[in-house]
Amino acid sequence: MNILVTGGAGYIGSHTCIAAFAAGHEITVLDNLSNSSPEALRRVGKIAGKVPRLVVGDIGDRSVVKSLLDSEKFDAVIHFAGYKAVGESVSKPWEYYVNNISGTLVLLDEMRRHGLYNLIFSSSATVYGNPLPENLPLKESAPLAALNPYGQTKLWLEDVMRAMSAADPAWHILLLRYFNPVGAHESGLIGEDPAGIPNNLMPYITQVAVGRLKELTIFGDDWPTPDGTCIRDYIHVCDLAEGHVAALAKVAELPGCTPINLGSGSGVSVAQLVASFEKATGRPLPHKIGPRRAGDAAACYADASRALELLGWKTKRDSDAMCRDAWRWQSMNPKGYK
Ligand code: NAD
Ligand code: UDP
Repeated sequence: MNILVTGGAGYIGSHTCIAAFAAGHEITVLDNLSNSSPEALRRVGKIAGKVPRLVVGDIGDRSVVKSLLDSEKFDAVIHFAGYKAVGESVSKPWEYYVNNISGTLVLLDEMRRHGLYNLIFSSSATVYGNPLPENLPLKESAPLAALNPYGQTKLWLEDVMRAMSAADPAWHILLLRYFNPVGAHESGLIGEDPAGIPNNLMPYITQVAVGRLKELTIFGDDWPTPDGTCIRDYIHVCDLAEGHVAALAKVAELPGCTPINLGSGSGVSVAQLVASFEKATGRPLPHKIGPRRAGDAAACYADASRALELLGWKTKRDSDAMCRDAWRWQSMNPKGYK
């Protein structure tokens, strides 16, 4: 298939380019490079033997999207482009609403004007809000809620896509709800390169391990979980990338708008992830216990059965592989792509 990948130079997008090339797809990346480096795509080329075509531009710029879709026929769009930091979305809500919502509305409109109706959208487990324990593991039918502007953009865009596909049966949209993507390609050439001090657990851990940060603070050890630390569903970014390839293979057969969890289906605690990381590096990771972080949920993990049933996909890589690969990337690239 000929695929348009918005945000394809980013963390998940670059890994997905490798998996999509391996499956024989052709790729054009549309990215404004607001949170990524073209170096990521050069390195995709080193791994895959092929560099994706890069169009530097904004999904919210109608002239860019229109001329791209005028000039080339695509079979499907994988839509990663958007801002993704929860904390930043609280301090810059307008920027999040404009970039994520307006940008996606332009993309959707140009897609339908060009008769392009196959879409794979990056949604997030954040649309489940703070899940109640009785709703775990989370099925796609669990109640939805947005806790911050970032979450609102994902939930609102899901609602837009549900309404548009209810109104027009031509659409085939897969709403892929990612749980906690971590890790890196096993080559160590590409990985997660967050700007500033990371908010997420794994990049914080790797930056402590490489000496960029002093120590990890575990946000609370008094949660109602077996070891007192929070539980999440971590998913290796290469498994996630392969999930997109599985989605490409099925999108044309799945009419309407279908939410699908992409997670491992099992929960790992913060303390367990730290232990896996220490095993991967063979050294202790400096850490301390701090207070709970406002807004955190004790546990959040997927029921991953729909992905297996509809896409024939499930995760293959465990937390040891996630930690080993995250560490390889960080130790080979202590300053990321810089
Ligand atoms: P990322 O920031 O690494 O990648 C996003 C890419 O989109 C970047 O290359 C950025 O330059 C580009 N971009 C942003 N706004 C754009 C615009 N208006 N036009 C063109 N390009 C634009 O993020 P990621 O971790 O790869 O996430 C990809 C998608 O997955 C995002 O939509 C994110 O919300 C979603 N998601 C990520 C996670 C996660 O933990 N990483 C979890 C759930 C969902
Ligand atoms: N966490 C932590 N210290 C950190 C960053 C995160 O203890 O410096 C914990 C956080 O409380 C949560 C888990 O790690 O329980 C995953 O956090 P992350 O922000 O990566 O993902 P999310 O909470 O959005 O699922």
